[in-house]
Amino acid sequence: MATPVNPNQDPLDPVRMEIDEADRQLIQILARRFDAVRRVGSVKHASPTSPLLDTERERRVQASWVQDAESQGLSAAFARRILREVLNHSRRLQESFIDTRETLGRAIVCGYQGVKGAYSSQAATHLLAMRSKAESRITGFATFQEVVEALLGGELDYGLLPVENSIGGSILDVNRLICDRDLHIVDEEIWGVEHVLATKPGTPLSALKSVRSHPAALTQCDTFLRGLDGVEREPWFDTAGAAASVLDVADGTVGAICSEEAAASYGLDIVARGIADQDRNETRFLLLARGPETPDPRLHCKTSLLFRLNHHEGSLARALGVISSAGANLTRIESRPQPETPWEYLFFVDVEGHSEAPALAGALRQLRTCCNHLRVLGCYPSRTVRQDRHLDVDAPATLAPAPLDIVETCPVAPPPMPAAGSTRPDRTKGALRIGGSTFGEGHFVLISGPCAVESLPQIVEAARMVRAAGATLLRGGAFKPRTSPYAFQGLGLEGLRFLKEAGRQFDLPVVTEVLTIEDIPLVVAHADVLQVGARNMHNFALLKELGRVDKPVILKRGMSATVKELLLAAEYILAGGNQQVILCERGIRTFETATRATLDVSSVPVLRRLTHLPIIVDPSHAAGDRELVVPLALAAAAAGADGLIVEAHPHPEEALCDKEQALTREDLAAMVAGLRPIITAQGRVWA
Ligand code: PEP
Ligand code: MN
Repeated sequence: MATPVNPNQDPLDPVRMEIDEADRQLIQILARRFDAVRRVGSVKHASPTSPLLDTERERRVQASWVQDAESQGLSAAFARRILREVLNHSRRLQESFIDTRETLGRAIVCGYQGVKGAYSSQAATHLLAMRSKAESRITGFATFQEVVEALLGGELDYGLLPVENSIGGSILDVNRLICDRDLHIVDEEIWGVEHVLATKPGTPLSALKSVRSHPAALTQCDTFLRGLDGVEREPWFDTAGAAASVLDVADGTVGAICSEEAAASYGLDIVARGIADQDRNETRFLLLARGPETPDPRLHCKTSLLFRLNHHEGSLARALGVISSAGANLTRIESRPQPETPWEYLFFVDVEGHSEAPALAGALRQLRTCCNHLRVLGCYPSRTVRQDRHLDVDAPATLAPAPLDIVETCPVAPPPMPAAGSTRPDRTKGALRIGGSTFGEGHFVLISGPCAVESLPQIVEAARMVRAAGATLLRGGAFKPRTSPYAFQGLGLEGLRFLKEAGRQFDLPVVTEVLTIEDIPLVVAHADVLQVGARNMHNFALLKELGRVDKPVILKRGMSATVKELLLAAEYILAGGNQQVILCERGIRTFETATRATLDVSSVPVLRRLTHLPIIVDPSHAAGDRELVVPLALAAAAAGADGLIVEAHPHPEEALCDKEQALTREDLAAMVAGLRPIITAQGRVWA
């Protein structure tokens, strides 16, 4: 007997019941899947070496999902989208098994830009919930900059900032902050942006006179908005802020494009969904911290790099070649102009892989030798689920990585020191160009000038004199580290200005000493090369700061420092990012008192064996006596130094500093005359 039809029943009711039942099953099935994933996680956890991500398995899962979905009449694109979320969640569940991060014993605080309901706040909530076992709290700030200040000031543990969008591209202000500030990337989040049109409760779509939102969101919904006749577009500072603001419009004729969550949190009606031109709109966020966090080696990771290259032909190709020879997949490359040096670029590069995995670690060491500046911004779990559109058609066999060609060229010798005769550093990649001069690659450079800048006429005359003698860089101290506090301390800022002016008049890049961290910006603004004096070689705080500077640094050997200590001091600068370090032997303190210091000529070939960094010699401070400077200079060239830094003064008898060792015009000429045949005999060229 047929079931009697209840005339009062809505014919949709049974269908809705069926939907509700299917939804319940969907949740149960997902819970079952994730439970199984957890069990896989605990098995993988027990094996300390096997990687968490099984790419081949993921490929197979994706292919069968798509096939099954299509056989059920569902679109492949839809199936991929759901699977992306499922795989993402599964990976993170497994990750939590191997998370050894210590908890802080209090709630973790993460800042984001925007207000409650903003896409940033959703991404932050999600990422923190997945990452940490500890309680977490998120807090909104008006600008990206404010998030960074609060993070660096210790008010926040993390900051989550959007770095790029799949439609709009790179977010410049955030990239700039990452370049300029001491930030470390510790995680990423890929967040799907799904815009809705929301109105004040009770207002229908037809009543709207304008729609406000962030300009990017308005652009992303262009086709939909064009379809709304006579509706104005109102740019707003952000999407959630636009949602909050529509409540204040008395007649309710203003709508907002925002996230579904923002609409809900401000109690708005949603009058349209799926309004973006592009189906897939994703924003990539970076989780920033004050220090690095090293992920478990089993995780599928990304490593983000920032580097600057010398202006040589082929230098970008060479840098990328180093990455590709490590078999590392490049997921992003972007350049950023540097206003202070027009037409030179910083490159942001993301590569797949753990920075401590042997191949990538080797590539990073090699990359240092061909970059002026290299910073590892962070190594963190990769959240991108790669989905190959044609995967389901014909899954390509995974290519074997290219054979590794990683010469173990440490920028400097890390302890333990390599044994004599071990692989030598590749010096051809270490050449450093400053103005027209090349340090390394078969060149010899003379840097000369007075110990101290004393006046504009003095330094201008000195510049003329050293240039005529064949020097290609001008030295002169503005901040002098004197043994006696009563001795002339240098002209400071005025000295820097005079030095810069003299360099400009004679087209000579200028070298000057920087004594303190506070002086760095001033010295950077005036000099082409920064010198760290012997007394400061152990000033690690200063060296670390110089690692963040984009100017070459001459690092002098401390008076009682070993070669190894000199190399480790250089490592402080290199590790901070700055790869433009020139080592300088200037004599060490021994029992001998006949000379000011004892020039350790042997350090030149010893360093040559250990590092690709250029090596110069300062015979002036070693000798302390003009007559001895020339023979020591010749010995240094003969030992293979890449150049010399020599004190010279137009009127040594009037010099305010180190007058006994300052070369005269004639001495300088004699020295150069003696040097040239040595350089030529070695097959090298001058400057
Ligand atoms: C200098 O070069 O002026 C100087 C002070 O040298 P050092 O640090 O080697 O003593
Ligand atoms: Mn001096």
